[in-house]
Amino acid sequence: MRIAMISEHASPLAVLGEEDAGGQNTHVAELAAALAGEGHDVRVYTRRDSPSVPEQVASPDGYQVHHVPAGPAQRVPKDDLLPYMAEFGGWLADRWGHGDWTPQVAHAHFWMSGLATVHAARRTGVPVVLTYHALGSVKRRHQGARDTSPPGRIGYERALGRAVDRVVVQCEDEVAELVRMGVPRSRMALVPSGVNQQVFRPDGPVAPRDPARPRILTVGRMVERKGFLEVVRAMPAVPEAECVVVGGPPAELLAADSFARRLRALAESCGVADRVKLVGAVPREEMGAWYRSADVLVAAPWYEPFGLTPLEAMACGVPVVGTNVGGIADTVVDGLTGDLVPPRDPRTLGTTIRRLLTDNVRRFAYATAALDRIRSRYSWRRCAEQLGAVYASVGALSRPTPAVA
Ligand code: UDP
Repeated sequence: MRIAMISEHASPLAVLGEEDAGGQNTHVAELAAALAGEGHDVRVYTRRDSPSVPEQVASPDGYQVHHVPAGPAQRVPKDDLLPYMAEFGGWLADRWGHGDWTPQVAHAHFWMSGLATVHAARRTGVPVVLTYHALGSVKRRHQGARDTSPPGRIGYERALGRAVDRVVVQCEDEVAELVRMGVPRSRMALVPSGVNQQVFRPDGPVAPRDPARPRILTVGRMVERKGFLEVVRAMPAVPEAECVVVGGPPAELLAADSFARRLRALAESCGVADRVKLVGAVPREEMGAWYRSADVLVAAPWYEPFGLTPLEAMACGVPVVGTNVGGIADTVVDGLTGDLVPPRDPRTLGTTIRRLLTDNVRRFAYATAALDRIRSRYSWRRCAEQLGAVYASVGALSRPTPAVA
């Protein structure tokens, strides 16, 4: 099939770890590669955010990336991109309507891409599939007045759920949230993300570490809801261990980062500053070495639409202590492949990490069961196959596509 993937702020070519670059970028890159690997013709459309990027880039993984001119050719925070979505959609419609390549299905990632894609679909008849990745209603519940999303987000998300041909959800929690918003269950297909088991595997290089100290690893964008503050608050309960935080700006810019400074100040006041290390952003291809260097991955977000980092750790044979939220509640089986704890509860987090670090048998059993779970359920190939079936079902509803010259 000719498949368009629209990811307005999250380019598959981006460097990860910074504020607006994380799981969605990985998801789009891996999914596009897996779909291309299945023989589909895949084009990813993302906003042009620098004057120096070429309009089109051929990824070595077999798909093309198109940089769409919509808004200024510079970095713009994702919460400020809404005004440019009509322009983005108009550009897509012009290409698909008059060019020599019209997709048979357009898969939008994130609600703003959904708006641009629905705009283009109205003019071209291309069927639309949407993955939200994150929901405004959940963000508002947890972040309240600190939520910087555009004011109409929740209403747009609700309307999109009815306007698109199919909604791809990533976990049971998201199904429940969307049903509460009025999106019919019959419109949803539950297809969890995968994990790249070539990159994330138990064997391979290991990042340097002190063999005398158990290592707790925590990974993600440096934003409060990822729960790094709670991990630092849990550290006094885990006396001998070190805590390594991967993500945020590149190492040389960490000193200037306000959240990194807050994290360091908290570590000082908890008396654990000598045991908390901030590494900064790590390139995706080096992430496996960091997971393999750890005795446990702690993923302690307040909420998590899916959460790739627990899957990546599990694929490397590293047990996970995660908060019982969002996708983590589906991917980590409590007491079998890891431990689930309530969010924003450093006391329980600390005792749970300590128990796991002092129990080698339990860690080994979790790691073995986790690997088994990853291998049987979470490959990108499986995800691409399931989505291929979703695309074919909406493609069959489709309006005729113009003949390719
Ligand atoms: N990541 C990375 N380098 C970093 C920090 C994170 O490559 O320095 C990757 C990480 O391996 C994962 C993604 O960014 O693939 C984060 O995805 P997740 O779903 O955990 O969180 P999100 O960013 O979507 O909230």
